[in-house]
Amino acid sequence: MAGTIHVVGAGLAGLSAAVSLVEGGARVVLHEAAKQAGGRCRSYYDPTLGLTIDNGNHLLLSGNPSALGFMRTIGAPADALSGPAEAEFDFADLKTGERWRLRPNRGRLPWWVMSPSRRVPGTRAADYLAPLGILRAAAGKGPGQGGTIGESMTCAGPLYDRLWHPVLLAALNTDPKESDVGLAAKILLETLGAGGEACRPLVAVAGLSAAFVDPAVTYLSGRGAELRFGRRLRGLGFGVGRIDRLDFADGAVELGRDDGVVLALPPWVASDILPGLTAPQSYRSIVNAHFALPPPPGSPLLLGVVNGLTEWLFAYPDRLSVTISGADRLLETSREDLSSQIWIEISTLMGLASERPSWQIVKEKRATFAATPAEAARRASAVTDHTNLVLAGDWTATGLPSTIEGAIRSGTTAALALLNGERAGRNMRGAA
Ligand SMILES: Cc1cc2nc3c(=O)[nH]c(=O)nc-3n(C[C@H](O)[C@H](O)[C@H](O)COP(=O)(O)OP(=O)(O)OC[C@H]3O[C@@H](n4cnc5c(N)ncnc54)[C@H](O)[C@@H]3O)c2cc1C
Repeated sequence: MAGTIHVVGAGLAGLSAAVSLVEGGARVVLHEAAKQAGGRCRSYYDPTLGLTIDNGNHLLLSGNPSALGFMRTIGAPADALSGPAEAEFDFADLKTGERWRLRPNRGRLPWWVMSPSRRVPGTRAADYLAPLGILRAAAGKGPGQGGTIGESMTCAGPLYDRLWHPVLLAALNTDPKESDVGLAAKILLETLGAGGEACRPLVAVAGLSAAFVDPAVTYLSGRGAELRFGRRLRGLGFGVGRIDRLDFADGAVELGRDDGVVLALPPWVASDILPGLTAPQSYRSIVNAHFALPPPPGSPLLLGVVNGLTEWLFAYPDRLSVTISGADRLLETSREDLSSQIWIEISTLMGLASERPSWQIVKEKRATFAATPAEAARRASAVTDHTNLVLAGDWTATGLPSTIEGAIRSGTTAALALLNGERAGRNMRGAA
């Protein structure tokens, strides 16, 4: 495009779109309502803890090619993500005290399920075939058309409780029983189904901003993109088949004939600004608990926990942090109650006798869209009825659940659609 492309929203989707556009030779202005970039994936200083923490603990996998490619493009530090050299996941059962390490082998042929020392205790190799039901139900179906995981595999038994439930809940942030098979199938095929090489766990130990946001901002500024913070988009001016004005809280931007727009906003904001847009409407929360105590030596970077409130325990160099997904049931629980219950669990898991250190509870109410069939069917494609407007965001039709990988992929898709002049007009109710 010969004109200027305005990207609105500097979460990972907007940053990814802006990077792809700059790579494609476009002139880019990035507008963000907040004072900083990163959206739901960013770091900030928490005075109670006296530490810089992330907006939420985030887990990536080595089978997230778009996220890793984005980091390479923006020149993120090589050690921004840490994880074991091989795919391995430590687990603990708070009820029985058992510990185990899941170790998928590198290649696609999953021989590891034949080895009792690599799989979940109390399970048989044949149990691992259960997710084939998900793949069968999803095959050849459109978004949201394959039904729920609960309808396609048995959601009970030791392997479900100790592997499929924690893994699917973490990936989908929605109770697996009510989650969409298409989203689950996509995740399974791109990670576990692709072998251990694609599911090494990766954690941004020095923070999400250091890994994804700061290098992207530096990359964009260094290539002439203009970044404007504290700019909230309120509305759009609709011309004939195109957008001709951006109405920000502090003034309007008139668009020239060759100018384009990428809306990389959360779905509830995009729906307000673009009347008639079909987008997800229900969300799931995530609760994080942070404790300002360096982990004991030898602690695994990531520990999956079953039969407790704690689901995943992250051992950052300066703190212990817990993630609880699909956590709507906890939104009304007091922060004090959550913190003390979680600290009892951590003390048990780590054999700690120490007093509860400084702590923080962060409840993200709309952390992700609900990964149900109904919401999966409401995702919008990048192209719109308006020739110069495209959409990005983890909620657009990437086929993936709400994830870093999905957000970054959506940004690239949107940028390419704009650069290539695609138009489909499938997102608006009543459109052909
Ligand atoms: C607690 C938590 C834990 C998570 N854990 C994981 C995980 O382990 N692994 C994983 O892969 N993913 C995880 N995710 C999901 C991941 O963070 C998101 O999928 C991703 O960050 C979404 O990026 P986005 O750019 O699509 O949206 P957002 O990050 O929401 O970006 C939207 C941007 O638009 C801006 N904006 C809003 N309104 C306006 C306006 N009117 N004008 C201008 N700007 C506006 C916002 O300020 C924001 O910066 C987690 C999310 C949360 C909240």
